[in-house]
Amino acid sequence: MNSKILLMLQLQNQLNDATNGEEWTKGTTKNDKEINWRRCIYMECAEMIDSFSWKHWKNIYQEPDWANLQIEVVDVWHFIMSLAIENYSQELKGGIEDIAMMISDFDALSMIEHSDVDNFAIDKEIMTKVETIMSLSLSKETLDLNALLVAFFELVKMSGLNLDTLYRLYVGKNILNQFRQDNGYKDGSYVKVWDGEEDNVVMKRIWEENPDVKPDALYKELTKLYHALVK
Ligand code: MG
Ligand code: MG
Repeated sequence: MNSKILLMLQLQNQLNDATNGEEWTKGTTKNDKEINWRRCIYMECAEMIDSFSWKHWKNIYQEPDWANLQIEVVDVWHFIMSLAIENYSQELKGGIEDIAMMISDFDALSMIEHSDVDNFAIDKEIMTKVETIMSLSLSKETLDLNALLVAFFELVKMSGLNLDTLYRLYVGKNILNQFRQDNGYKDGSYVKVWDGEEDNVVMKRIWEENPDVKPDALYKELTKLYHALVK
C-alpha cells in the first residue's frame, strides 16, 4: 500500500473530525450544517480555471499563474479525499485503508510517482481535464469515484506535480489548517503574520530546511515559533 496516500487520507480524516465533528461522513457537521463535497470540488475547480486567462475579452496575452494552479490542485485534493471517505463509509465499502489500497493499484498513481516536476501540459488540455473533474462531481448518476480519482491524478501530472510534491504541499497545508483551527482561527484571535511573514511562508521554510520532517514534528515546530512570537 502506498504510504503517502494512506497518510494523506488519515490527515484529511483527522482534519474533518476536528472541523466538522466525528459524524461528518453522515453528511452534516456538528453544527447541523449540510456538507456537500461535490460542490466543494466543482467550486475549487472553477478557481483552478481562473489560473488561466481563459476570458476571450480580457487580459488575453497573460501567462497562466502556475503556482496558483498547484495550490488549487492541493485544495481540491482535500475535498476529493473527503468525498471518497464519505462514499466508502455511506456505502459500507470500508475505511481509509481500503481506499488507500484501491488507489495504490491505479496505473495513474504509478504515473505520478515518476513524473517530472514543473513540466506543465498545454493550458487547453489542463482546462479540459479540470472540466472532466467538474462534470464527474456534478453528475446526477451514481458517483464514479474511480474515474474522479484517475482524472485527478492525471491533472496532478499535467500541473507539474508528482506524488512527492503533492504530498509536501498537501501535508503542509493540512497541518497549517489544523494549527490555525487550534489557535483561534474561528474566533478571529489567530495571528496570521508572524514577525512580518505570513504563516504559510514560515511553514514552507520549515519544510525546505528539513525535507524529511514528519507531520507532527512540523506541527510542533509551528507551535514553538508561534508561542515565542505571540506572548
Ligand atoms: Mg477555495
Ligand atoms: Mg482554492
